[in-house]
Formats: sequence, C-alpha cells, structure tokens
Amino acid sequence: KADLVMVYHRLPYEEGLEQGRLVRRPPSSPNGIIPTLLSFFAQDRRGSWVAWSTHEPRLGQAFEVHTPVDSGRYPHLVAARVALTKQDVDVFYKRFSKEAFWPTLHTFWERAQFCEEDWQVFLKVNRLFAERTAAEAAEGATVWLHDYNLWMVPAFLRPLRPDLTIAFFHHTYFPSADVFNVLPWRREIVGSLLQCDYIGFHIPRQAENFVDVARGVAPVEVLDSMDCAPRFLTYGCAVGLDRMTTAIMVHGRRIGLGAHPVGLDVARVGAIVESSQCQQLMQRLREQLHGVRVVLSVERLDYTKGTLEKLLAFEALLEAHPELVGKVSLLTVCVPAAREMTIYDELLTQIERAVGRINGRFSRVGWVPVQFFYRAFPFDELVAYYLMADVMWITPLRDGLNLVAKEYVATQGLCQGQGVLVLSEFAGAAAELHGALRTNPHDPNDLRDTLYVALALGQAERRARLRELYACVCHNDIQRWGDEFLQAVAAMKRQESGQG
Ligand code: UDP
Repeated sequence: KADLVMVYHRLPYEEGLEQGRLVRRPPSSPNGIIPTLLSFFAQDRRGSWVAWSTHEPRLGQAFEVHTPVDSGRYPHLVAARVALTKQDVDVFYKRFSKEAFWPTLHTFWERAQFCEEDWQVFLKVNRLFAERTAAEAAEGATVWLHDYNLWMVPAFLRPLRPDLTIAFFHHTYFPSADVFNVLPWRREIVGSLLQCDYIGFHIPRQAENFVDVARGVAPVEVLDSMDCAPRFLTYGCAVGLDRMTTAIMVHGRRIGLGAHPVGLDVARVGAIVESSQCQQLMQRLREQLHGVRVVLSVERLDYTKGTLEKLLAFEALLEAHPELVGKVSLLTVCVPAAREMTIYDELLTQIERAVGRINGRFSRVGWVPVQFFYRAFPFDELVAYYLMADVMWITPLRDGLNLVAKEYVATQGLCQGQGVLVLSEFAGAAAELHGALRTNPHDPNDLRDTLYVALALGQAERRARLRELYACVCHNDIQRWGDEFLQAVAAMKRQESGQG
C-alpha cells in the first residue's frame, strides 16, 4: 500500500499489442503533464500511479493490476492499472472529455456537446478509478488527483476512505462561473471537488473562478485570502488578479486552495542543451537557414492553441512589412492529436490551407515563409529548435499554463541566449512570466504588431527580459512545485485537525 497515490488517467507510456504481445511505446501525442509527474518521482519518491490500461484482456491473458513504470529510472513507482475497455476509453476520454469539458473549460462553450449517456460512462470510469485508488492507499495516505477527467473521483472515494487526504490539481484552465455554469452536471462536479481537502490550480485567477463557481452550488464561507503580487501579475494581463482566496468552508468542511504553476526540471533541459547531439542539430539547422531569422511556434493541434490565428497574423505581417520577406521564417510544430480523434480534422484542413496560401503568395527561391511540421518531435530535438529560435511565438486563445513557454526560456537562459518570448495574455503562464512580451491572440492587429515589436527589440532589452524570465523558471522549478503543493496539502490537513 502506498502513502502517496498519484491518479492521472493515462499511464506514462502507451500500451499496444504487437504479434499478440503487450508492448510499451512513448505517448503518441506528448503533453506536459506526464513528464511533470514523472519528474516528481525521479527524486526517489515512492508511490503508486493509478491510470487506465488501454490493453483489453481479450486475449485470455490475466489482467495484471500492478507493474513497474520504469524500474531503472523510477525504482519506487508502481503503476496500478484500471482495466477499461476500448469503448470506455473512446467515450470517456476521446469523446466526452474532449467534446463536453475541454471546450467549456477553455471558454469555447458553444462548441461543447453534452450527452447524458456519455456522462454515465464518465461516472462509471471515475468510480473505477476511485475504487482502485481506495485499494492502493495506505491508512491516512495522500491521494493526488490530476485534472478534469477525474472530477468525480472525490465523490466516490470519500465515502470509501474517509481517512484519506484528497488533493486535486487542475492542469487545465478553469473558466469563470458565467462559462462553467453552462455544464449540465456542474452541481455534481463541484460537489465532488468540495470533497477534497486541497485544490490546486496554476494561477490565482483559476482558483478564484472556482470559488465563484462553488458559490453558485453551496454556501461558501471565505476563511483566508492572500495578495497575488509579487509572484503573479495583478493587472496588465487578461488572467491577472490582485487577491485570491486560499481557504473556504463549505458545509462544515475546510478546503484549501492554492496557485501552483507547474515548473520544469531545468537540470534535465540543461543536460540536453549541453549534449553534442543537440548542439550538432542546432548547428545544422542554423546552416540550413542561411541567416534567416526564426520565429518558432510549438503546440498540439487544438483550436484553443490559436495556430490558425497565428498564421493569419504572420501573413498580415509579411503584407505590412515587405522588408521581412526573405528575412524571417515561421517554423510551426503542430503535434497531432491522439490516435483516432477526428474532432480536429477540420481545423487541420484550415491550417494546411493557410500554410499553402501563405507559402504560395510569398515564397522565394531558397526561402519559404512558413515551415509546417505536423508531427511530434522528441523533446531532445525540440530543445535544438528552441536554441536556434530568435522569437518564440506562443499564442493560445486560452491555456491552463503552457510549458513550452518555460522550456524555451530555460533553453535560452542556459546558453545565455537572447531570444524573445511572445506569450498570449490568455495563457496561465502569462501571469507568472513577467518578462514576456504579452499579446492578445483574439486581436489580429495586436498579434501582428507584437510580433513585429519582438523582431525589432534591441539587444539590451532582449537580454534583460530573458534574465528575468530565466530567474523565474529556475526558481519555480518542478521540485518546488511538488514540494510546495504537498506542503500546502499537509498544512491544510493540520489546520483541519486543529493543530495548525
Ligand atoms: N512537446 C514535445 N514534442 C513536440 C511538441 C511538444 O515533446 O513536438 C511537449 C513540450 O515539450 C511540452 C508539451 O509537449 O512539454 C506541451 O505542453 P504544454 O503545457 O505547452 O501544452 P499542452 O499540450 O499540455 O496543452
């Protein structure tokens, strides 16, 4: 039994069948959460990772609940698998979570589709996760749940194991009550989250939005609050906030709230930057670019990421500033969605059409304005792209945090570079990364003009901004994130039991 049970819907690897044998592969669509949670366990921490198994026991093989994640790198981490059928996964994750919750959380509620039958599958899967978690946890253990796919786990887990400390971290954006409240099941979801002892978000704005949502469901007494400055921006940014609630009382239960933007394993990035493979790749890329300046964009294929808006703004930039033609290229890495997810097909077509049009209009022999990479790069390779990018252009229409922004800062900072980070003011990271040039991706003119400013920025200002950004990324790293979160959970527990 484990004293710390991490619960995230996916395993750190994908499972598949090859010639009748179960094999492991790296995730086909990398996100920031899996490496974050793994880094946490790299520090020799012990624990159990509860996740679904995409493998069906249909070959007559006995289903093994427990398996080491990677005994070499994480010797004290065991995966505890929840057996789901392919249909469960398709409905719970690929359809319902992505069609009902994802758009609503990112304020695109008009795209959301709500289906009561799918909600029942979502409940069933969350109950299975709660039952597996209850079986894994030692007496008085801490359970750390991750993200909206597991919203209903606390409701099932609390009655099974009243002794547990239940903490939840919300990796995704949490919208205002005006948007969240369109969810048909908002009372059940909020009621479940209020069974937690502690709920963490990336930034204060998201935590405060949750408090507003909770107020619409139950009487909320605010017990404590704090100033968001100096760590977080209080104004000048769409997701800024000056004061946030840190503890509430609901129906006699005390619940702690915190803002904990996920950090990076800077040493891991440093080892890649120093590796000869990375340096060689960067050198090769630089030579192939023949002195053309690079604007880089890296994101998953998703309407929330603002890829199309960015392409249109780049086209407008070339129109408005013909002197940049032949001098600047946009390299855009777009990671395909998980296998069999078709909801992004139309967006992909629109993006490909825009890339084709821009390249058709502006290309010259030996220079293309947009280089579009529709695939996932291994992280080691991505770092070489970060190293040689003059401007990192990150323009989500809405984003919980955005780790790519931090990875770029770490990479440039480690090599004393002078790259410029242009970051959407609608990304959670904008509230934390004070040195970025902020842009509004909903405003095509602002997108275009801020990129122009970034390209024209003088060396001294580039360096000063990067220094500030790098100091922030190094200070608030992955270790601090995990430590601070767990310390805050423990402090809340002490207060609850009257010892605080
Ligand atoms: N990533 C990657 N290869 C790629 C593109 C992205 O490994 O080709 C990783 C990237 O390094 C980052 C994560 O995917 O760690 C994306 O995290 P982010 O928070 O920016 O966005 P998310 O996809 O989680 O919304």
